[in-house]
Amino acid sequence: MSENVLKVAGLTVAYGGIKAVKGIDLEVNRGELVALIGANGAGKTTTLKAITGTLPPCKVDGTVTYMGASLKGDQSFHLVEKKLAMVPEGRGVFTRMSIQENLMMGAYTRDDKAGIEADIAKWYDVFPRLKERAQQMAGTLSGGEQQMLAMARALMSHPKLLLLDEPSMGLSPIMVDKIFEVIRNVSAEGITILLVEQNAKLALQAAHRGYVMDSGLITMTGNAQDMLVDPRVKAAYLGE
Ligand code: ATP
Repeated sequence: MSENVLKVAGLTVAYGGIKAVKGIDLEVNRGELVALIGANGAGKTTTLKAITGTLPPCKVDGTVTYMGASLKGDQSFHLVEKKLAMVPEGRGVFTRMSIQENLMMGAYTRDDKAGIEADIAKWYDVFPRLKERAQQMAGTLSGGEQQMLAMARALMSHPKLLLLDEPSMGLSPIMVDKIFEVIRNVSAEGITILLVEQNAKLALQAAHRGYVMDSGLITMTGNAQDMLVDPRVKAAYLGE
């Protein structure tokens, strides 16, 4: 039996009088990589913000259940303690800290010093550019380098659920390939992932299941491989 890590039910978000998310249901099971795709303005980022409680509660309705308990009212530092990590659009690294310090901050809920050092070494192996710049301020990194750092920092917390918002945005094709290789590897290690992506093809190729969001509604869901060959998905989101 699959086990829910995340379950969203009847989620609604209104900005003023405008509903950006209109009562959606979505779930992510243990070990799954789930892609949430859709056009600009569909409500994908708003959905992630509602899950992580970064929107004022008065705007949000519905339930968000993580590991069997409601997430409502949790502050972001509680989420890290609960092993829920988010890499937001625009990355959100600590710009005035070095790369090394950012990685250490990612592990602040852990106390296994040797394990933390081993993980930092592992991420420096995966992203040699970060190793070369270990003492450089994160704010001076390029967009692609910040994306690598944000991903590595999130994974330093050993999350049970990783939320990724548009990891390919603004990256060169080579960097996009690299980031997706890392996402696939992290998923293969068993970490549960909800991936929001504009690049529907890459996202569905990596994912087990997918959801299509359009104008605040989930309009389609299914096995990612089936969605990749679905004529409606192909026409609207894969440019085929
Ligand atoms: P993209 O792929 O372009 O990032 P998205 O699917 O993530 O799009 P959202 O960012 O969730 O879309 O936006 C959904 C809708 O809500 C859009 O129409 C957007 O203009 C609106 N919106 C988002 N944030 C706010 C805000 N703070 N105030 C008012 N409207 C907002």
